Amino acid sequence: MTIGIIGSGAMGAGIAQVVATAGHEVHLLDQNAAALDKALASIGASLRKLAEKGKLTAEATLARLHPTASMADFADCGLVIEAIVEDLGVKQQVFKQVEAIVSADCVLASNTSSLSITSIAAACQRPERFVGIHFFNPAPLMQLVEVIPAVQTRAGLAEEVRAWVQGWGKRPVLAQDTPGFIVNRVARPFYGEAIRILEEGIADIATIDWALTELGGFRMGPFALMDFIGHDVNYRVTESVFNSFFYDPRYRPSFTQRRLFEAGYYGRKAGRGFYDYA
Ligand code: NAD
Repeated sequence: MTIGIIGSGAMGAGIAQVVATAGHEVHLLDQNAAALDKALASIGASLRKLAEKGKLTAEATLARLHPTASMADFADCGLVIEAIVEDLGVKQQVFKQVEAIVSADCVLASNTSSLSITSIAAACQRPERFVGIHFFNPAPLMQLVEVIPAVQTRAGLAEEVRAWVQGWGKRPVLAQDTPGFIVNRVARPFYGEAIRILEEGIADIATIDWALTELGGFRMGPFALMDFIGHDVNYRVTESVFNSFFYDPRYRPSFTQRRLFEAGYYGRKAGRGFYDYA
């Protein structure tokens, strides 16, 4: 099966690497040529590192990756996974374009972190072939993938997709179409409560991260993790989960993170966030 990936940012590049490694031919599309170049360079570097460890042949996998600026190349795809900006209107628009090109039985999937799969599917002519496939960052390393059927998804498709994801070497779980699904819902109070502890002066950033990693068994503390994900992404997801749960205060975003977001202090990628990386 040939797979189309839309968006070659952090997630699209990682997903492309996963499915190309699993043996699929992949069309990787981005509207930004520089993003495509960056994705191919980072996939190449990652594959060569794995090849050094004897885990795979980098060149054979790279040969299956076909960067493109034209959606017309998706005509032979059996699955299209979208990983573009977290904006409902933009995603709906993109799937309208996809449906004009792919065959009637091509499965369509979104990697959205927080938007309703049902609402993206609703913009499609054939919403019954739509499903959520939610990877975690970095996709080549993270085992978990959430598979989320929309209200309109045809019976059996989520199970079929789950088997595909398993075949890509991942450990998929099925989740209902609710805001944040499983992990991003549990993660909101994790981040939110850590920020509240900071705001109330109970402990500083380094102490909270230290306590949770050294003593709490978490691989990353909440502040280091928010900086890693990026406050542009993380703040938007918090806001989206809060709004989608009808303003349930359990998921309320914080002004501290909002100000980092407004200032462009997105974390590691910006050189500054809760920590200074300059
Ligand atoms: P990103 O900003 O790194 O990459 C998005 C890419 O999509 C960019 O290269 C951009 O040029 C491209 N793009 C935007 N609109 C496009 C369009 N209309 N057509 C073609 N290309 C377009 O974003 P990301 O972090 O990779 O996130 C992508 C999606 O994955 C979002 O929905 C996000 O919520 C979700 N997600 C992110 C993470 C994470 O930790 N970053 C984890 C899981 C899911």
